[in-house]
Amino acid sequence: MTLLTRGEMHEFTAANQRFVYLVPSAAVFRLDPVSEAVLDTLGDRILTPDQLADGLADRFGLENVHATIGELHAVRAVSEAGAWPDDQLMQMPPADMPLTTMVMNVTSKCNLACTYCYEYGDDRITDSACGDQPDFMSEETARQSVDFMFRESGENKVAHLNFFGGETLLNFKVLQSSVAYARERAAALGKEVQFGLTTNATLLKPHIIEWLAENRIGVTVSIDGPQDAQDEFRVFKNGRGSYDVVVPKIKALLQKHPTRPIGARVTLTQQNLSVRKIFQHLTDDLGFWEVGFAPVTTSTFRDYAIEDEGFDSMLEQFQQLAYEWLEHTVDNRHHAFSNVRDTIEELHRGVSKAFPCGAGLGLVGVGTGGDVALCHRFAGSDDHAIGSITGGMDRVQQRAFLEQHHIDNKPECHTCFARPLCSGGCYHEAHTRYGSTTAANLHYCTWIRRWTDTCLRIYGEVAERNPQYLAQFEN
Ligand code: SF4
Ligand code: SF4
Repeated sequence: MTLLTRGEMHEFTAANQRFVYLVPSAAVFRLDPVSEAVLDTLGDRILTPDQLADGLADRFGLENVHATIGELHAVRAVSEAGAWPDDQLMQMPPADMPLTTMVMNVTSKCNLACTYCYEYGDDRITDSACGDQPDFMSEETARQSVDFMFRESGENKVAHLNFFGGETLLNFKVLQSSVAYARERAAALGKEVQFGLTTNATLLKPHIIEWLAENRIGVTVSIDGPQDAQDEFRVFKNGRGSYDVVVPKIKALLQKHPTRPIGARVTLTQQNLSVRKIFQHLTDDLGFWEVGFAPVTTSTFRDYAIEDEGFDSMLEQFQQLAYEWLEHTVDNRHHAFSNVRDTIEELHRGVSKAFPCGAGLGLVGVGTGGDVALCHRFAGSDDHAIGSITGGMDRVQQRAFLEQHHIDNKPECHTCFARPLCSGGCYHEAHTRYGSTTAANLHYCTWIRRWTDTCLRIYGEVAERNPQYLAQFEN
């Protein structure tokens, strides 16, 4: 006899409707009166389909109730009692999974000395022979990296090449030659390559901006906000703040690089948590198209580590910006807050992650010497290498890494409704906080769950009030 129980779900309301986020399938489901009644009647109990339907037949008709139970079963809102959920069975990507994104560290040097920087600060990963890595990637290594990228991209038609550092523009010569070479190889192979670059903006010059625009290179500027915020941590080596240097260059970039949207990426610290003020400055005063925020990655005892009340304040301001984003979105007006937009996209696509990000999966970081690591933050770390540009991906090592880091091996996350999106969080942060990439980032679970709940409510509102907006995420 089939016995039914409620599936794993997170309930929320949006636009005066009841919704459920079905965790095993990562689907958002709006409850109509019958499904609402079925789930409420089932509650914490275990019932047969007939027992469940009989009590509701008077109100909704027996056939209708059974059809709804069938639909709820299909989306796993109800399931057989005691059944082993599918997501508890380790599902691994194919062994020869193609590379989609290569992050190339063209230099490990920087002309700024941001106190919180993981590359130079106290939290730098020091498990390796990093000292043996060249400060700057050579043209030859860059060419070999590009060859590696196309080789490992398999059947993929599009490859993504992102330049990272250090400060990328310190090695402009290699940026230029890499882009030219990647275009040439892409044409020969019948592929397309898309470029991205992160910079602190201090070295932007007219000819560099022209080159970025001509080559349609997506630019992300690391900036912390208005003058007081920027000059607190983003300083030159002599301690001078960088705001006055970067602002005119950013304005020129925004004016002369119309071919791709320019984004700002803000690092939040305990001393810099005025999210709304920063957002307003970067959008209204400077004109960035997109602004994304990330809390600093650090061990707990640094004075810039965000404390509990800091996380509360950050969440409150994120929520305010998210609701502002919603009001713009329902009117088909652009709003620059990318944290919420990115999560709405993931929710609509039904993203359910077995791994927190693409690191070591479809994304790798290449160090200045050509070693291939999990991502740009691990580039140059021997313990986190998974191949080399000449030898290719080490598929055995990659497989071992993925098996070890699968969500199934993070028992603390197994009952968390936010796991389809979080999946334990950034490996680099886990390494910094707990000394191991395998650890779940349990220090911010409450924050993640509250933020995920906010995004679900925003998603429900958009789904009800402007469903056409979501169609862009369906291809
Ligand atoms: S790290 Fe925390 S929030 Fe993230 S999936 Fe695990 S339990 Fe959930
Ligand atoms: S490990 Fe962390 S820093 Fe690296 S790609 Fe993943 S989320 Fe980003």
